[in-house]
Amino acid sequence: MNSIDKLAEMFANFPGIGPRQAKRFVYFLLSKNNGYAGELIRAIENLKREIIQCGECRRFFVKNGSNSNTCSICSDDTRDHGMLMVVPRDADFEVVEKSGSYNGYYFILGGTVPILEKEPEKMIRSKELGVRIKKGLENGLKEIILAMNANLDGENTAEYLKNELSPTLGTGVLITVLGRGLSTGSELEYADPETLKNAFLHRTK
Ligand SMILES: [Zn+2]
Repeated sequence: MNSIDKLAEMFANFPGIGPRQAKRFVYFLLSKNNGYAGELIRAIENLKREIIQCGECRRFFVKNGSNSNTCSICSDDTRDHGMLMVVPRDADFEVVEKSGSYNGYYFILGGTVPILEKEPEKMIRSKELGVRIKKGLENGLKEIILAMNANLDGENTAEYLKNELSPTLGTGVLITVLGRGLSTGSELEYADPETLKNAFLHRTK
């Protein structure tokens, strides 16, 4: 495989990028001077060096010189230990946190479970979620909020998690989903703060 095809194949693995767009990226890079390519290479290297994944919520965060692998939110003891919000991706966590409507802890699932998926446990971090919940239960966890996208994949993921989690939880723990202030088909990532706030306030069992 020549280097154009090789790089195009790598870009085509990016979410939402097809083979034609991938090729356009490669030709774009070829049209730039060497400085640009060098900068891109350094940015990728820095990303891998400076960003680590939180051992608890699994989100990516800037290391900031400390050796801890726990992010600032998970290590913030003043947050509400009673609530754990489960979101599909890092971008979803960011919009919820920015909306300011929630003060509990998070868990990033790393994906969703499509309908008819034969191996759902491979699509999301279910095992890690189990570990996080167990720890939460020792620290007063009362409610697990499934904050999924308002589409079929999101609903399916919430159903799957409810079935998986319910038997392992005591009667004292609620599983809730966000209220349908989110219009059907909408993705969490693109919801505005006001909508999120309403969806959070109107969450249901
Ligand atoms: Zn964390």
